Amino acid sequence: MRLFDAHNHLHDARLDPHRAALGPALDAIGLVGAVVNGTREADWDAVAATVAARPGLIASYGLHPWSVRSRSPHWLEALIARLDDSGTRGAVGEIGLDAWIPDHDLDDQRTVLLAQLKLATGRNLAVTIHCIQAWGPLLDTLRAAPLPERGFLIHAYGGPAEMVAPFAKIGAYFSFNPAHLAPKKHARREVFRNIPAERLLVETDAPDMAPPDEYNRHPLPVGADGRAPNHPANLEVAYGELARLRGLPLESLAALAEENFRRLFG
Ligand SMILES: [Zn+2]
Repeated sequence: MRLFDAHNHLHDARLDPHRAALGPALDAIGLVGAVVNGTREADWDAVAATVAARPGLIASYGLHPWSVRSRSPHWLEALIARLDDSGTRGAVGEIGLDAWIPDHDLDDQRTVLLAQLKLATGRNLAVTIHCIQAWGPLLDTLRAAPLPERGFLIHAYGGPAEMVAPFAKIGAYFSFNPAHLAPKKHARREVFRNIPAERLLVETDAPDMAPPDEYNRHPLPVGADGRAPNHPANLEVAYGELARLRGLPLESLAALAEENFRRLFG
Protein backbone atom coordinates (compact mmCIF):
# COMPACT_ATOMS: atom_id res chain seq x y z
CA MET A 1 0.00 0.00 0.00
CA ARG A 2 1.17 3.54 -0.80
CA LEU A 3 0.00 6.06 1.80
CA PHE A 4 0.11 9.88 1.75
CA ASP A 5 -0.22 12.11 4.82
CA ALA A 6 -1.76 15.36 3.56
CA HIS A 7 -1.06 17.23 6.81
CA ASN A 8 1.40 16.76 9.65
CA HIS A 9 4.12 18.46 11.70
CA LEU A 10 6.81 15.78 11.48
CA HIS A 11 9.46 18.33 12.47
CA ASP A 12 7.81 19.03 15.83
CA ALA A 13 10.14 18.69 18.85
CA ARG A 14 7.54 16.56 20.66
CA LEU A 15 8.48 13.75 18.25
CA ASP A 16 12.24 14.10 18.92
CA PRO A 17 12.41 11.41 21.67
CA HIS A 18 10.94 8.93 19.15
CA ARG A 19 12.63 10.19 16.00
CA ALA A 20 15.03 7.27 15.43
CA ALA A 21 12.09 4.85 15.30
CA LEU A 22 9.81 7.05 13.19
CA GLY A 23 11.44 6.35 9.81
CA PRO A 24 11.16 2.53 10.05
CA ALA A 25 7.56 2.82 11.37
CA LEU A 26 6.59 5.06 8.45
CA ASP A 27 8.32 2.70 5.99
CA ALA A 28 6.36 -0.21 7.51
CA ILE A 29 2.96 1.41 6.86
CA GLY A 30 4.00 2.37 3.30
CA LEU A 31 4.25 6.14 3.70
CA VAL A 32 5.30 7.52 0.32
CA GLY A 33 4.52 11.23 0.70
CA ALA A 34 3.57 13.79 3.32
CA VAL A 35 3.20 17.54 3.68
CA VAL A 36 5.17 18.87 6.66
CA ASN A 37 3.62 22.11 7.89
CA GLY A 38 5.42 24.91 9.68
CA THR A 39 3.30 27.19 11.84
CA ARG A 40 5.62 30.03 12.85
CA GLU A 41 8.90 31.64 11.84
CA ALA A 42 10.78 29.79 14.59
CA ASP A 43 9.93 26.32 13.26
CA TRP A 44 10.62 26.83 9.55
CA ASP A 45 14.28 25.70 9.90
CA ALA A 46 13.12 22.44 11.45
CA VAL A 47 10.64 21.90 8.59
CA ALA A 48 13.45 22.31 6.05
CA ALA A 49 15.75 19.90 7.95
CA THR A 50 13.02 17.26 8.35
CA VAL A 51 12.05 17.37 4.69
CA ALA A 52 15.71 17.06 3.65
CA ALA A 53 16.08 13.91 5.76
CA ARG A 54 13.43 11.73 4.06
CA PRO A 55 12.36 11.43 0.41
CA GLY A 56 8.75 12.18 -0.48
CA LEU A 57 8.22 14.97 2.04
CA ILE A 58 6.96 18.40 0.95
CA ALA A 59 7.93 21.49 2.94
CA SER A 60 5.01 23.79 3.68
CA TYR A 61 5.68 27.17 5.26
CA GLY A 62 3.16 29.47 6.84
CA LEU A 63 2.08 31.55 9.78
CA HIS A 64 -0.69 29.80 11.74
CA PRO A 65 -3.47 31.92 13.26
CA TRP A 66 -2.14 30.99 16.72
CA SER A 67 1.20 32.61 15.79
CA VAL A 68 -0.19 35.76 14.21
CA ARG A 69 0.21 37.81 17.39
CA SER A 70 3.86 36.86 17.92
CA ARG A 71 5.01 37.41 14.31
CA SER A 72 8.13 39.48 13.71
CA PRO A 73 8.06 42.65 11.59
CA HIS A 74 9.96 40.70 8.90
CA TRP A 75 7.75 37.61 8.76
CA LEU A 76 6.59 38.13 5.18
CA GLU A 77 10.11 38.62 3.78
CA ALA A 78 11.19 35.52 5.72
CA LEU A 79 8.30 33.53 4.22
CA ILE A 80 9.12 34.73 0.71
CA ALA A 81 12.73 33.59 1.19
CA ARG A 82 11.54 30.11 2.27
CA LEU A 83 9.25 29.80 -0.74
CA ASP A 84 12.06 30.96 -3.03
CA ASP A 85 14.24 28.18 -1.59
CA SER A 86 11.59 25.48 -2.13
CA GLY A 87 10.69 26.56 -5.69
CA THR A 88 7.87 24.58 -7.30
CA ARG A 89 8.21 21.81 -4.66
CA GLY A 90 6.96 24.08 -1.87
CA ALA A 91 3.57 24.73 -0.33
CA VAL A 92 1.98 27.37 1.91
CA GLY A 93 0.52 26.39 5.30
CA GLU A 94 -0.55 26.02 7.94
CA ILE A 95 -2.56 29.23 7.71
CA GLY A 96 -6.15 30.16 8.43
CA LEU A 97 -8.70 31.64 10.81
CA ASP A 98 -9.44 30.68 14.42
CA ALA A 99 -12.14 32.25 16.57
CA TRP A 100 -11.75 29.60 19.28
CA ILE A 101 -8.48 30.84 20.83
CA PRO A 102 -8.89 33.40 23.60
CA ASP A 103 -8.42 37.07 22.59
CA HIS A 104 -8.45 36.27 18.90
CA ASP A 105 -8.28 39.17 16.49
CA LEU A 106 -9.98 37.90 13.32
CA ASP A 107 -9.21 41.07 11.36
CA ASP A 108 -5.49 40.69 12.02
CA GLN A 109 -5.69 36.97 11.24
CA ARG A 110 -7.47 37.78 7.97
CA THR A 111 -4.77 40.28 6.96
CA VAL A 112 -2.07 37.66 7.52
CA LEU A 113 -4.10 34.95 5.74
CA LEU A 114 -4.68 37.16 2.70
CA ALA A 115 -0.99 38.06 2.39
CA GLN A 116 -0.11 34.37 2.39
CA LEU A 117 -2.86 33.44 -0.10
CA LYS A 118 -1.51 36.10 -2.43
CA LEU A 119 1.99 34.60 -2.25
CA ALA A 120 0.69 31.08 -2.89
CA THR A 121 -1.47 32.20 -5.79
CA GLY A 122 1.37 34.07 -7.48
CA ARG A 123 3.43 30.86 -7.42
CA ASN A 124 0.50 28.44 -7.85
CA LEU A 125 1.48 26.59 -4.67
CA ALA A 126 -0.98 24.45 -2.73
CA VAL A 127 -2.31 25.99 0.49
CA THR A 128 -3.27 24.27 3.75
CA ILE A 129 -5.96 25.94 5.84
CA HIS A 130 -6.76 25.61 9.55
CA CYS A 131 -10.18 26.75 10.75
CA ILE A 132 -11.90 26.59 14.12
CA GLN A 133 -15.23 28.30 14.74
CA ALA A 134 -14.78 30.75 11.88
CA TRP A 135 -16.40 28.92 8.94
CA GLY A 136 -18.52 31.81 7.69
CA PRO A 137 -15.67 34.34 7.79
CA LEU A 138 -13.37 31.77 6.14
CA LEU A 139 -15.73 31.16 3.23
CA ASP A 140 -16.28 34.92 2.77
CA THR A 141 -12.53 35.56 2.86
CA LEU A 142 -11.67 32.79 0.41
CA ARG A 143 -14.43 33.79 -2.02
CA ALA A 144 -12.97 37.30 -2.22
CA ALA A 145 -9.30 36.26 -2.16
CA PRO A 146 -6.80 35.24 -4.81
CA LEU A 147 -6.60 31.43 -4.71
CA PRO A 148 -4.04 29.09 -6.28
CA GLU A 149 -5.30 27.40 -9.43
CA ARG A 150 -4.33 23.97 -8.10
CA GLY A 151 -6.60 24.34 -5.07
CA PHE A 152 -6.25 24.26 -1.30
CA LEU A 153 -6.72 21.85 1.59
CA ILE A 154 -8.96 22.44 4.59
CA HIS A 155 -7.25 20.09 7.01
CA ALA A 156 -9.28 17.98 9.48
CA TYR A 157 -12.45 19.57 8.13
CA GLY A 158 -14.85 20.26 11.00
CA GLY A 159 -17.26 22.66 9.34
CA PRO A 160 -20.93 22.11 8.60
CA ALA A 161 -22.01 19.57 5.96
CA GLU A 162 -23.78 22.23 3.92
CA MET A 163 -20.56 24.24 3.51
CA VAL A 164 -18.67 21.40 1.79
CA ALA A 165 -20.18 22.24 -1.62
CA PRO A 166 -19.41 25.98 -1.55
CA PHE A 167 -15.84 25.31 -0.37
CA ALA A 168 -15.39 22.59 -3.01
CA LYS A 169 -16.66 24.95 -5.69
CA ILE A 170 -13.74 27.32 -5.05
CA GLY A 171 -11.15 24.52 -5.02
CA ALA A 172 -11.17 22.93 -1.55
CA TYR A 173 -9.91 19.47 -0.65
CA PHE A 174 -10.81 17.96 2.75
CA SER A 175 -8.63 15.65 4.87
CA PHE A 176 -9.83 13.01 7.31
CA ASN A 177 -7.98 12.79 10.64
CA PRO A 178 -7.78 9.82 13.09
CA ALA A 179 -9.09 12.08 15.88
CA HIS A 180 -12.40 12.06 13.97
CA LEU A 181 -12.83 8.50 15.29
CA ALA A 182 -13.75 9.73 18.78
CA PRO A 183 -17.41 8.84 19.54
CA LYS A 184 -18.36 12.52 19.99
CA LYS A 185 -17.09 13.33 16.47
CA HIS A 186 -19.94 11.39 14.88
CA ALA A 187 -21.20 14.40 12.89
CA ARG A 188 -17.76 14.98 11.38
CA ARG A 189 -17.54 11.37 10.25
CA GLU A 190 -20.93 11.70 8.58
CA VAL A 191 -19.67 14.74 6.67
CA PHE A 192 -16.75 12.66 5.38
CA ARG A 193 -19.11 9.97 4.10
CA ASN A 194 -20.35 12.46 1.48
CA ILE A 195 -17.34 14.57 0.53
CA PRO A 196 -16.75 14.37 -3.25
CA ALA A 197 -14.31 11.52 -3.93
CA GLU A 198 -12.00 13.68 -6.04
CA ARG A 199 -11.52 16.06 -3.06
CA LEU A 200 -10.80 13.51 -0.34
CA LEU A 201 -7.44 13.28 1.47
CA VAL A 202 -6.12 11.61 4.62
CA GLU A 203 -3.90 13.13 7.33
CA THR A 204 -2.60 12.76 10.89
CA ASP A 205 -1.71 16.31 12.07
CA ALA A 206 0.93 14.42 14.13
CA PRO A 207 2.01 15.05 16.83
CA ASP A 208 -1.44 16.59 17.42
CA MET A 209 -4.90 14.99 17.08
CA ALA A 210 -4.24 11.42 18.27
CA PRO A 211 -6.98 8.83 17.67
CA PRO A 212 -8.98 7.65 20.69
CA ASP A 213 -7.11 4.92 22.65
CA GLU A 214 -9.10 2.03 21.22
CA TYR A 215 -7.97 3.01 17.69
CA ASN A 216 -4.40 4.02 18.55
CA ARG A 217 -2.12 1.44 16.90
CA HIS A 218 1.06 3.39 17.71
CA PRO A 219 0.70 4.74 21.24
CA LEU A 220 3.51 7.00 22.47
CA PRO A 221 4.33 7.87 26.08
CA VAL A 222 3.19 11.16 27.60
CA GLY A 223 5.63 13.97 26.82
CA ALA A 224 6.90 17.02 28.71
CA ASP A 225 3.67 18.89 27.94
CA GLY A 226 1.65 16.22 29.80
CA ARG A 227 0.10 14.82 26.62
CA ALA A 228 0.87 11.77 24.50
CA PRO A 229 1.87 12.79 20.99
CA ASN A 230 0.05 11.32 17.98
CA HIS A 231 2.38 8.92 16.13
CA PRO A 232 2.39 9.76 12.38
CA ALA A 233 2.05 6.02 11.58
CA ASN A 234 -1.54 6.33 12.84
CA LEU A 235 -2.11 7.42 9.25
CA GLU A 236 -2.91 3.77 8.56
CA VAL A 237 -5.73 3.97 11.11
CA ALA A 238 -7.25 6.99 9.35
CA TYR A 239 -7.03 5.22 5.97
CA GLY A 240 -8.59 2.01 7.29
CA GLU A 241 -11.49 3.69 9.06
CA LEU A 242 -12.20 6.15 6.24
CA ALA A 243 -12.32 3.22 3.78
CA ARG A 244 -14.86 1.51 6.06
CA LEU A 245 -16.91 4.70 6.38
CA ARG A 246 -17.04 5.15 2.60
CA GLY A 247 -17.67 1.45 1.90
CA LEU A 248 -14.52 1.24 -0.22
CA PRO A 249 -11.82 -1.42 -0.38
CA LEU A 250 -8.68 0.00 1.26
CA GLU A 251 -6.76 -0.34 -2.03
CA SER A 252 -9.34 1.83 -3.81
CA LEU A 253 -9.17 4.54 -1.16
CA ALA A 254 -5.35 4.46 -1.29
CA ALA A 255 -5.38 4.88 -5.08
CA LEU A 256 -7.90 7.72 -4.84
CA ALA A 257 -5.98 9.53 -2.09
CA GLU A 258 -2.74 9.21 -4.06
CA GLU A 259 -4.32 10.69 -7.18
CA ASN A 260 -5.83 13.56 -5.18
CA PHE A 261 -2.60 14.19 -3.25
CA ARG A 262 -0.57 14.39 -6.47
CA ARG A 263 -3.10 16.70 -8.17
CA LEU A 264 -3.06 19.12 -5.24
CA PHE A 265 0.51 18.99 -3.99
CA GLY A 266 2.34 17.89 -7.17
ZN1 LIG B 1 -1.74 21.12 11.86
